[in-house]
Amino acid sequence: MNLRIPFNRVSWITSTFLIGTFLMSISIVPYHIWHNGVDAFQICLFLFYYFATGFSITLGYHRLFSHLAFKAKWPVKLFTLLFGAAAFENAALDWVSDHRRHHKHVDEEDDPYDISKGFFHAHIGWLLFKLKPKPPMDNVADLRKDKLIMWQYKWCHYIGVFVGFILPYILGYFYGGHQAALSAFLLSGILRVVVVQQGTFCINSLCHYMGRQPYSASCSARDSGIMALVTFGEGYHNYHHEFQHDYRNGVKAWQFDPTKWIIWVLSKFGLTSGLRRVADEKILLAEINETRRKIDASLIEYANKDSSAYQEIINKSIEQLKLLKQKFDENYSQLEAAINEKINVSKETTMQWKHDVNNAMDHLTVLKNSGFTLQPIT
Ligand SMILES: [Zn+2]
Ligand SMILES: [Zn+2]
Repeated sequence: MNLRIPFNRVSWITSTFLIGTFLMSISIVPYHIWHNGVDAFQICLFLFYYFATGFSITLGYHRLFSHLAFKAKWPVKLFTLLFGAAAFENAALDWVSDHRRHHKHVDEEDDPYDISKGFFHAHIGWLLFKLKPKPPMDNVADLRKDKLIMWQYKWCHYIGVFVGFILPYILGYFYGGHQAALSAFLLSGILRVVVVQQGTFCINSLCHYMGRQPYSASCSARDSGIMALVTFGEGYHNYHHEFQHDYRNGVKAWQFDPTKWIIWVLSKFGLTSGLRRVADEKILLAEINETRRKIDASLIEYANKDSSAYQEIINKSIEQLKLLKQKFDENYSQLEAAINEKINVSKETTMQWKHDVNNAMDHLTVLKNSGFTLQPIT
């Protein structure tokens, strides 16, 4: 095997930190737990740090600072800047600059974590190797006016080391001396950093790799309920790329989006405000548009296919899809006109259209699976 590592492009400090903490969490950390065990204090401290640093990235760095999806009072900002630094994903200003560039140039050369350069690059490679000089941070002028953000930008690594590693050590020491301090450092410091970082990295890699595209297939972003579970609700990435200023990523009632729930709860205490939501009709419009595109693509693909035993089922779905397509074409212009003229669409109509979209998706699934999972007609 010929592994060619571009050593002249390695980001040595970042690589040493990422690989070092990862190796420690699969060697020293399990060894330490095996010999010393963990008690309730260590588990609670780990969970506190996991949620505090994880939500600081999704709620603070991402939805608040990158997308301005809501406004927040200074305690929320301060908390997310302190614990965001402890996630060791760089200062908020750097993170936001990269992320805004990701949205603007998604899947293109200037996308920092461009999935078209491969899964490894999008996940972690872009941090380990610098493929080109860092672009100027010319897309965060608004954040430069914020004193708290600029304070964190200046002291980010010191804050990160203190809040992320030294503080758990001190808390552990007061709880149970040197042994507990070491456990807290390894679990709530090292292991927690790795787990939170891998969750964030998955948004850049897996969320552009696996899942559904209900709102648009114009970019690689995908919705995945499984990814939402490990990313504090950020797994509905197809929606997010289509409507990036919405404070929600999971917009359906059944979708798991704890970041959205926390923002909403904080708004009830006056700590957040101005929560931005895309109107239901606009979301439905995007779904109808994408479903129409999928129907067109499927009808072309299956136009001349003869799948013998499955033909009856396929023909039935094709007929239904043709009818639905006709209906969508009419609905689309109706809905578009209603949104443009700011006319409220009745709940019954919206429900019917949503039902039609789901119905079309079922038939598209039948076509997709025909010949693979359907049983022959007897
Ligand atoms: Zn993305
Ligand atoms: Zn985003």
